[in-house]
Amino acid sequence: MASKQQKILLIYTGGTIGMIENPATKALEPFDFNHLLDNVPKIKMLDFEIDNCQFDVPIDSAQMDPSHWRQIAKVIEDNYAGYDGFVILHGTDTMAYTASALSFMLNNLTKPVIITGSQLPIGEVRTDGEENLITALQVAAARDVDGGPMVREVAILFQDSLLRGNRSTKFSADNFDAFQSSNYPVLAHIGLAINYNKEALLRPSQGKEFKAEYFMDTNVAFLDLFPGIQESVVRATLSIPGLKGVVLKSFGVGNGPNSPWFFNCIRDAVQNGLLIVNVSQCSNGMVSPMKYSAGVGLANAGIISGHDLTSEAAITKMMYLFGMGATQQLAGKYMEKNLHGELTE
Ligand code: ASP
Repeated sequence: MASKQQKILLIYTGGTIGMIENPATKALEPFDFNHLLDNVPKIKMLDFEIDNCQFDVPIDSAQMDPSHWRQIAKVIEDNYAGYDGFVILHGTDTMAYTASALSFMLNNLTKPVIITGSQLPIGEVRTDGEENLITALQVAAARDVDGGPMVREVAILFQDSLLRGNRSTKFSADNFDAFQSSNYPVLAHIGLAINYNKEALLRPSQGKEFKAEYFMDTNVAFLDLFPGIQESVVRATLSIPGLKGVVLKSFGVGNGPNSPWFFNCIRDAVQNGLLIVNVSQCSNGMVSPMKYSAGVGLANAGIISGHDLTSEAAITKMMYLFGMGATQQLAGKYMEKNLHGELTE
């Protein structure tokens, strides 16, 4: 139960939740935070203290980049001791990337960082924003039986589920139920009550000092396979100057074309120092490269298995590891290890 003493910091970055329609263009544009709060008078009924801060210019999350992640991480680090939990209002388009990135950047996190937004602006009659915002605040204030925070990780609250941030993906542009976590159970079901799935919640070891890491190295790329992909496309991508890592989105359990040119491209790139991590285009299941010869060929060419990482978690984890100064070899080792609940080893 939340008590009167709980203090939550609400961080507004933008997104549909706070947008209003531009009368001239009819397009939705980010608006200021007071407009948002004016539309949720019920916030005043919550029995805990809520402070807020916002990006100078709220953005559509399509504009999100590592400089914004740094801004969010800095606000959390500067206010870490003073608050019991944090709620981030964010656009849905890149929410899963931000949730994944923050899960790596916020080291030794033992407080809730709950990210939410909405599919309809908060000023609209049928908005999902009000419910998402109120529930996110309640989750951020919830306590476990030991009196510590119920949630001690970065999570996404959307519609009727609380999901691990680095296991989440946006899967619907139309439905209120817009996020899924196909390879990990939901952390809580939101119904009449908020039912926490206690076995699924992360319980990081206590006593280590919280520390935000700020540098994300963006010399990374996705390579998405499709039947008919040309050698020139694969070679051009893998030889981009300065590139350190590639997340290869492969078929099924981690397969690609069974052609010598393909394996040669991968082998040459790995030998030239590129880290290539194999994740599946399927949203559910894990890469098992040894199941088919097409996968064995990739593994033999030096590609690393991304196990059941989401694409969002894979690319942001790479940015984080290279940002920490890891070599290709060390980054490859950590890509296969579970750091913050993002991967099933
Ligand atoms: N384009 C919006 C954004 O990501 C969509 C949303 O918030 O739902 O900021």
